Amino acid sequence: MSRPVLACPNLLRLQGGRPSLIGSRCADCGEVYFPLAASCTRCLGTRLEPHDLGSTGVLWSWTIQGFLPKPPYNSGETADSFRPYGVGYVEMASGIKVESRLTWADPASLRIGMPMALTIVPYGLSENGEQVSTFAFEPADKCLKGDEHV
Ligand SMILES: [Zn+2]
Repeated sequence: MSRPVLACPNLLRLQGGRPSLIGSRCADCGEVYFPLAASCTRCLGTRLEPHDLGSTGVLWSWTIQGFLPKPPYNSGETADSFRPYGVGYVEMASGIKVESRLTWADPASLRIGMPMALTIVPYGLSENGEQVSTFAFEPADKCLKGDEHV
């Protein structure tokens, strides 16, 4: 399996094909950030270290994006090809909430508190036509995975 070209390589770690999110953690007070931060808003420290946020969390809140996002977001979709998709905040084990596209767009199946798992999804094409991927969260419950993916 070839390594996917990531739209945000500094936010993800791929190990054995499994993704995890990379944030930063303040070496002085322990505050965790995502995406990476250069300084700590809690203690004003500047000694931030890469921090693995893991690949699972729980859905903290969500909505369905029903219109084409405005630039600079660019997934290559057009008004004709666009399909509504889920957007949510996923609370990771550290307590930090990560905003993410969801693979699921069925409001009847999404509920606050449901377990979610990180995955890699197609995002768009690069200038030279290469498929670029990004992260998203999907329901961790295997029985919810299926043809409802968007
Ligand atoms: Zn700090």
